[in-house]
Amino acid sequence: MYKRRDTRPVRVGDLTIGGSDKVVVQSMTTTKTADVKATVAEILRLEEAGCELVRVTVNSQEAAEAIRAIKSQIHIPLVADIHFDYRLALSAIANGIDKVRINPGNIGQRDRVEAVVKACKERGIPIRIGVNTGSIERHILEKYGYPTAQGMLESALYHISILEELDFHDIIVSMKASDVPLAIEAYKLAAESFNYPLHLGITEAGTLFSGTIKSAAGLGALLAMGIGDTVRVSLSADPVEEVKVARELLKAFGIISNAVTLVSCPTCGRIDIDLIRIANEIEAYVQNIKAPIKVSVLGCAVNGPGEAREADIGIAGAKGEGLLFRYGEVVRKIPEQDLVSELKKEIDILAKRYAET
Ligand code: SF4
Repeated sequence: MYKRRDTRPVRVGDLTIGGSDKVVVQSMTTTKTADVKATVAEILRLEEAGCELVRVTVNSQEAAEAIRAIKSQIHIPLVADIHFDYRLALSAIANGIDKVRINPGNIGQRDRVEAVVKACKERGIPIRIGVNTGSIERHILEKYGYPTAQGMLESALYHISILEELDFHDIIVSMKASDVPLAIEAYKLAAESFNYPLHLGITEAGTLFSGTIKSAAGLGALLAMGIGDTVRVSLSADPVEEVKVARELLKAFGIISNAVTLVSCPTCGRIDIDLIRIANEIEAYVQNIKAPIKVSVLGCAVNGPGEAREADIGIAGAKGEGLLFRYGEVVRKIPEQDLVSELKKEIDILAKRYAET
């Protein structure tokens, strides 16, 4: 386990972001926020996939007012995404939002910033400062000529200073760029400069395939340095896919406590069973199981048994059948046609046992 950076813990609803080894998985809805029914339905799907915090656009008074009804039907904290209009921030806060994403330097006059900060303080609501390459202030851009990591840091420090002057410290910061090396550099500078929790993201990363790889490259590099307290994978796809990718990324670093990890072999000439189909069926099955179980699905009896023994439960293929392992012990032989159904049953038993502990 690598060392994670110490950050200031910030409460968001019943979650804490920062100050621990936990990395919170976030996503954002794609519905019109004022459409309560559609927004709630999407959030419930995100919850089921393992999303722990969800952001909605608040771009109108109707959207701000919908927050109360949405909150009453979901189970995870809700974040309002606001760009310039401080009245929408105040309305979102009055309607029970758990966190506001707004850049104080963009709100305008001082009394407006003070009003938002006062309302957040009264209700214990944090503010996320969202810096990205497109949001850098003009004077900073002119200084560097184009978006740079240093410019992004200066922008973040500018917004932070406004909140700190008002004695407000429940701050979370993001430093997003769609350029992976630039985002990595900006987050590294931020981590060296302040200890507010960092919300990681590669913005506008792309489609399900390319965006997943881009996000894994950027967020993976940062997580490997112990940087990042919450992640959002931005994909041009169903947001449930964002959650699936984020959870898979956290699994790769061993920083998720409620997910099934699947180990499966790439197959080779030794293969004796239809391994790729089995692995895909098992992967789909374990997606929503919230238990720290390691499952292995290996193709043959040459390397298979040794590796299957490392897992909590696993199979190693043989001709027309498979060996089932549980905690390193061979449990029984299973005909190939029953491998998927029997492995699912065994996974359910382990998940149930975990839920009861
Ligand atoms: Fe090949 Fe067996 Fe290794 Fe799979 S487990 S890659 S089938 S040797």
